[in-house]
Amino acid sequence: MNDGQLADASQPSGTSGRSAVVVGGGLAGVTAALALADAGVRVTLLEGRPRLGGLAFSFRRGELTVDNGQHVYLRCCTAYRWFLDRIEGSALAPLQERLDVPVVDLAKPEGRRLGRLRRDALPVPLHLGRSLATYPHLSLAERARVGRAALALKGLDLTDPALDAQDFGSWLTAHGQSARAVEALWDLVGIATLNAVAGDSSLALAAMVFKTGLLSDPGAADIGWAHVPLGDLHDRLARKALDSAGVRTEVRSRVTSLSPDENGTWSVRVPGETLRADTVVLAVPQREAYDLLPDGALDDPRRLLEIGTAPILNVHVVYDRKVLDKPFFAALGSPVQWVFDRTDASGLRAGQYLALSQSAAHDEIDAPVAALRARYLPELERLLPGTRGAEVRDFFVTRERTATFAPAPGVGRLRPGARTQAPGLYLAGAWTATGWPATMESAVRSGVSAADAALSALGRPRPRRLFEFEEAA
Ligand SMILES: Cc1cc2nc3c(=O)[nH]c(=O)nc-3n(C[C@H](O)[C@H](O)[C@H](O)COP(=O)(O)OP(=O)(O)OC[C@H]3O[C@@H](n4cnc5c(N)ncnc54)[C@H](O)[C@@H]3O)c2cc1C
Repeated sequence: MNDGQLADASQPSGTSGRSAVVVGGGLAGVTAALALADAGVRVTLLEGRPRLGGLAFSFRRGELTVDNGQHVYLRCCTAYRWFLDRIEGSALAPLQERLDVPVVDLAKPEGRRLGRLRRDALPVPLHLGRSLATYPHLSLAERARVGRAALALKGLDLTDPALDAQDFGSWLTAHGQSARAVEALWDLVGIATLNAVAGDSSLALAAMVFKTGLLSDPGAADIGWAHVPLGDLHDRLARKALDSAGVRTEVRSRVTSLSPDENGTWSVRVPGETLRADTVVLAVPQREAYDLLPDGALDDPRRLLEIGTAPILNVHVVYDRKVLDKPFFAALGSPVQWVFDRTDASGLRAGQYLALSQSAAHDEIDAPVAALRARYLPELERLLPGTRGAEVRDFFVTRERTATFAPAPGVGRLRPGARTQAPGLYLAGAWTATGWPATMESAVRSGVSAADAALSALGRPRPRRLFEFEEAA
């Protein structure tokens, strides 16, 4: 680590010398660091790995730059969109003009069939009416029942704590949804956003996702994704923004312990150095937070260990030619879930590179590459006829065993807020109590909440103009 002179020298004039250490350089930590620095606090950001970006990162494989997992966001993700703006990355991760999801179904005996989930420019809920009315993967009766369930969902009170104890699957069954409707619609969206099937999801989190994404504003579910490697956004541009905000950023700096000092400051230890700060934001995963939290910081810290985790598998296939003419599609009647064209983003010059994003992949996360290859290549041949004569130039997988927290019923009461009982110590991370499932949106919101709480305790409430996204979902 350096001696910190860079950050000291680059502090804006007129700051009162308040200091903060942010532990963890994922989206939550980067956000908290930017927010604190923008409010005039002297910030050091410590990240254990050699890069920023946490769970949303890129790496090199030959000529390819590969994302550890396909990430998308929705127009309703106002905090993540603020983050993209703040790091000057919005143009690199644009939104669709209008929600349009091609859905290929292999389950029908007559062969593959394409449907689309689209929206019109009409007000909610009519914006989805025409798409639902013509969605070929459900019967007429199922479509009508989906409409009724959507209205019932819209009527749920997200502040009702009882919702968190129920599971979404039982609620859907009780509201007349067939197994087919769950597969072809509710799980199609839900598995990708919650990282769990409906039966394993808290009704509170599922209702939050569907209400916010599909039933709030007509454009809320328009999809955005990075057209560059994730590392260009979450590492390179984030680092640039941190540097210009005067944050001292140290990678390869794993925090081994933190403790309060007698004078009300904090000592944060990394190998070879102890940093002192007025404020600490702990923006690490829940397991690491449990290990680092000092005694008494939370009433019942063991609750953090009760928050389960869920895996995501990505299957990467490079073909010698173009086999897909859409940026992405979702599949039904196949183990394949969502397929994205990553050719341009990865830097591939010839052929086409597809990434299959497989959420809630409990059964496959440890499967050998050969078994996954034997399973997925024939499925891609069924879904994309153009692959049948194509040569597979590369096939590999990325496995994230703890990609998200498990959105299981009851998880809501386990997620702590930003404030701890230790003065000056705050928590951030997608797993904290943001009301959102484990997403980039949740991570950014948590970083803002932690910075907000820290700034009000330091007596310098955050200037409104610094985070002008809608607070409430
Ligand atoms: C494969 C995959 C696909 C996903 N798809 C989507 C998607 O499509 N849309 C979406 O919105 N979200 C998606 N997510 C979830 C999203 O990536 C995460 O919710 C978000 O990035 C979490 O950010 P975070 O800052 O809370 O935590 P993390 O990213 O886990 O960051 C925590 C950081 O703390 C560091 N750290 C830990 N211990 C220490 C220590 N002792 N000292 C210093 N540093 C430490 C870690 O190295 C890490 O960088 C996906 C996740 C994965 C893995």
